[in-house]
Amino acid sequence: MTAHAPPESELPNALATIVGPQFLLTDAQSCSFYAQDVFTKDLPALAVAQPADTGELAALVKTTVAAGHAVIPRGGGMSYTSGYVPAGAGAVIIDMSRMDRVVEINAEDMYVTVECGCTWKALHEALQGTGLRTPYWGTLSGSKATVGGGLSQNSVFWGSGQYGSAVDSVIGLEVVLADGSIVKTGSGAQRNSTPFFRHFGPDLTGLFTCDTGALGFKAVATLRLIPELPARRFLAFDFKTAADALAAMSAVGRRGLAMECFGFDPFLQAQRMKRESLAKDVKALAGVMKSAGSVLGALKEGARIAAAGRGYMDDVDYSVQIIIEERNEAAAAALAAEVRVVGEQFNGREIENSIPKITRANPFGPVNNMLGPQGERWVPIHGLFPHSKIRAAYEAVEALFARHRAAMDSYDIGVGYLFATVSTNCFVLEPVFFWPDAMTEIHQRSLEPDHLARLQGFPEHLEARAAVTKIRDEMTALFTELGAVHLQIGKHYQYREGIRPENWQLIQAIKAAVDPRGCINPQSLGLE
Ligand SMILES: Cc1cc2nc3c(=O)[nH]c(=O)nc-3n(C[C@H](O)[C@H](O)[C@H](O)COP(=O)(O)OP(=O)(O)OC[C@H]3O[C@@H](n4cnc5c(N)ncnc54)[C@H](O)[C@@H]3O)c2cc1C
Repeated sequence: MTAHAPPESELPNALATIVGPQFLLTDAQSCSFYAQDVFTKDLPALAVAQPADTGELAALVKTTVAAGHAVIPRGGGMSYTSGYVPAGAGAVIIDMSRMDRVVEINAEDMYVTVECGCTWKALHEALQGTGLRTPYWGTLSGSKATVGGGLSQNSVFWGSGQYGSAVDSVIGLEVVLADGSIVKTGSGAQRNSTPFFRHFGPDLTGLFTCDTGALGFKAVATLRLIPELPARRFLAFDFKTAADALAAMSAVGRRGLAMECFGFDPFLQAQRMKRESLAKDVKALAGVMKSAGSVLGALKEGARIAAAGRGYMDDVDYSVQIIIEERNEAAAAALAAEVRVVGEQFNGREIENSIPKITRANPFGPVNNMLGPQGERWVPIHGLFPHSKIRAAYEAVEALFARHRAAMDSYDIGVGYLFATVSTNCFVLEPVFFWPDAMTEIHQRSLEPDHLARLQGFPEHLEARAAVTKIRDEMTALFTELGAVHLQIGKHYQYREGIRPENWQLIQAIKAAVDPRGCINPQSLGLE
């Protein structure tokens, strides 16, 4: 970024005339806060601009690039791979939070169009009562994470068991390029059409997704709609070995039995149980009772979860949690029966289903999980694998942890795993680190205040953080060796190192075409 104009330029004044002075933040606190992600706090931004619409966004990008400064998109700020953390001084961050409208719910043509700063939770709420949903419908961080962030990182969770990742549900985009021009993708690019279909010529929607904001600014996105699936079943199993849990999840995934299929190792499970007071959490129970449909059903559900309490998890090792959604009760029951056969086949013991039930009833809860139960720092890392490689990948990660056991013990670094399947063909392995260290502004501003107040918290612990960084970096390289691919590439995962040289050349050429001065989010995807 040394080639870029100096921070003391006149740029902030020019940007303030576009958005109005109240939406151009230049105070030290804002410039630091908006530039840090859940894991990394580094250089502050020169300024943070908050556009109201696509026109303002385009003008901001054009003006910043013309001045030779880096310009970086930021959604809900819920990521941890330095995706929007500036790689050099003088960067302008575009905070998308004001572009949060649900523009159109088109029940006739079955699509919904949103501005990209809209959160998954807001989209979910806008669709309530319509009988419609998007196939993929958000991340667990969706109370803050945005549709634009999800499509730029790609993301998985709600709906992923059947419908894949976020990007698989998008059918059109409006993207602002470095020169301020606005490109539409899919059928929306046809002069006389609407964004009802993804494919019309080469898939430009695909080009701009998963780019972690390196190729352009997503201003507006259109997602497909499907009918809601009202018949639900919730199942949970205890497996005594990781091998059995992983094999059972693969079997469920391959057969397409679950809408969501996720699991925890004993460590992560214990962390979650310490943090989430399942039966005692009045809000969680209220969510379950609300989603039970009838008053009687609500009382029964509430009573059952309260009676089960949390004790049933005490002797659970590797838990697998399954949510089934279907059009009618018979179909849901048939899938549940198949899942039970799989559970048995891999020596699973069926346990209470409170976790999937509560999670589904409160899909976009507060993001309190971004710290450990006592306020420890938290950071995940993940690899996406085919089913055939998941067990070997898990064992390789275990071996890596074993090599670092002494350092982990001496710094009190804890590690657990989240497992999930995506559609029929993908397995997510997500090791998660916890370590005693100071929280930053992003934690303070994101967690619920009463939850935050209950946390003990820790002083800064640079050695522990350095050890986590080292192990995480080694694991990133290991994942590349094992053939993993990733969501959330940002400035962390080895995209460049992992792909064939021909592919890297093509990506560089595309970057040069859409952002010739290299001003859009420099270093994201490893691009200059
Ligand atoms: C508690 C917690 C739970 C989580 N749960 C999940 C989960 O269930 N599944 C999952 O996959 N991830 C999860 N995550 C990770 C993270 O929340 C997701 O990756 C999410 O998609 C990030 O969205 P965001 O809006 O916060 O994006 P940000 O973090 O703001 O940005 C992410 C990247 O996208 C780019 N970007 C953002 N908006 C735009 C735009 N409009 N145009 C172009 N580029 C843009 C940024 O430059 C950056 O590179 C979780 C994180 C936390 C803290």
